[in-house]
Amino acid sequence: MSERIYDAIILGAGAAGLMAAAHLKRKSVAILEHNPKPGAKIAISGGGRCNITNAELSPSRYLGDPSFIESVFSQFDNHDLIEFLHRHGLEPVVRKENQYFCPDRARELIDTLLRAGSGGDFSGNEFFYDTEVNGVVKENGLFAVDSSRGIYRAKKLIVSTGGLSYKSVGAGGAGLQIAEAFGHRVRPPNPALVGLTLQPEQAWMRSLSGLSLPVEIGVGRRVLKEDMLFTHKGISGPAVLNASLYWKQGKIVVDFLPKKRIKTLLKSPTKSAASQIPLPKRFVRAFFDSLDIPNIPYKEMNEIQKQRLSLLKSYAFAPAGTFGFTKAEVTKGGVDTDQIDPYTMQSRLTEGLYFAGEVIDVTGEIGGYNFQWAFSSAVVAAKSI
Ligand SMILES: Cc1cc2nc3c(=O)[nH]c(=O)nc-3n(C[C@H](O)[C@H](O)[C@H](O)COP(=O)(O)OP(=O)(O)OC[C@H]3O[C@@H](n4cnc5c(N)ncnc54)[C@H](O)[C@@H]3O)c2cc1C
Repeated sequence: MSERIYDAIILGAGAAGLMAAAHLKRKSVAILEHNPKPGAKIAISGGGRCNITNAELSPSRYLGDPSFIESVFSQFDNHDLIEFLHRHGLEPVVRKENQYFCPDRARELIDTLLRAGSGGDFSGNEFFYDTEVNGVVKENGLFAVDSSRGIYRAKKLIVSTGGLSYKSVGAGGAGLQIAEAFGHRVRPPNPALVGLTLQPEQAWMRSLSGLSLPVEIGVGRRVLKEDMLFTHKGISGPAVLNASLYWKQGKIVVDFLPKKRIKTLLKSPTKSAASQIPLPKRFVRAFFDSLDIPNIPYKEMNEIQKQRLSLLKSYAFAPAGTFGFTKAEVTKGGVDTDQIDPYTMQSRLTEGLYFAGEVIDVTGEIGGYNFQWAFSSAVVAAKSI
C-alpha cells in the first residue's frame, strides 16, 4: 500500500510496460506486475532469442485498423526502435530474412529496457513485483488501482497488461476488464498465431506428424507463404500461425505446390502421377489415399481423378478450431481502437487513461511485429504523458 500519489502508474512490466517506463522522463511512476520478475514473455519469445522487430514494417502485416496502426508507427517505427536499442547498448542482429533478434538471449532485451528506464531522468520509476492488479476506479481526478498490496494512486494510468495467451507466464484479462469498466468496447479475445485443429475429413494429415512443407495458404483475401507443419494435434508452422490471425471460421485454401503447375510436372505418359510430384512420398501417398486417386499416369486418369489431383493446388477445408490460448503466441481482439486516440494512445472516454501493447485490438503476424506494436504504442503513450 502506498499513500503517495504518482504521476503515472503502469499496469504490467511486459514489453509495453517496460518501454513506457523507459520513456516517462522525470516522473514518479509505479510499475505494478504480478510476476516476480519483468518481461516473462520476452524471455520465452523467438525461441529464447526474441524476434524484436522486422525491417519491413507495414500495417498490412497486422489485423486491426490500418490507419490507426500507421498513425502510431509514424511516431515510433522499427528504425526508431533499433536506434533506441543501439543508444542503450543492444545491437540486434538480422537472422531470418528481415527479422531482428537479440544477439544471444532474449534476456538482453529485458536488461536493456530496465537499464533505459532506471537512474538519471528515470530514478522516479518504482517497480512493484508480486503485485496483482484487481481493478481500477477514478475518484477525485485520480486513478486508484486496487492491488494485492493495497491501493496505488496516480494522475495517469497506462494499461499494458497484454493478452490472454500463455497464462503460464502471467497473461490474464485484467486489462480488458479495466477497459470495460471505463466504458470501452472490447472486441472478443481469441487465440492467434496458433495451430489449427482438423475435422475428421482431414484426418489423413495427422499421419504426417513431423513433416514440414512450403505452402501458400489463402484466408479470405490474404495469402500466407511459408512452411506448414503437420502435427499430431493438427497443422502448425509459420504459414498456419499467420493464417490463424486472419481465420475466423470457414474454409482456408492450401496450395501444396506453390509456383508450380500440375500439368507441367506430370508430363511423362508412362510414369505414375504420384512419382512425378516433387513432394515427400509420405505426403503424396496420404494425399492420394485420402482422395482415392489411383497411382497411374496422369494421362490415364479420368476427369474426376484429374480434378481431385488438382486439389494439390487448392485444397480447401474448414479447420475445426485452434490449439487454444495455452499454445497461442498472441491474442487477437481487445480494446477497440475507435475509442483510443492514435496520436496519444489516450482513451477518448476517460482523460488520463492510456493503453499500450497487446491489450489493444491490433495483432501482428509472426516476424517481430507484435513486439514492435507493443513498443511503438508504449512510446506514444509515454511521450504524450
Ligand atoms: C511463446 C511466445 C513467443 C513469442 N515470440 C514473439 C517474437 O519473437 N516476436 C514478437 O514480436 N512477438 C512474440 N510474441 C508475442 C509477444 O510476446 C507479445 O505480443 C508481447 O509480449 C505483448 O507485449 P505487452 O506488453 O502488451 O504484453 P506482455 O509482454 O504479455 O506484458 C503484460 C504484463 O502484464 C502482466 N499482468 C497481466 N495481468 C496482470 C495483473 N492482473 N496484475 C499485474 N500484472 C499483470 C503480465 O504478467 C505481463 O508481465 C510471443 C509470444 C509468445 C507467447
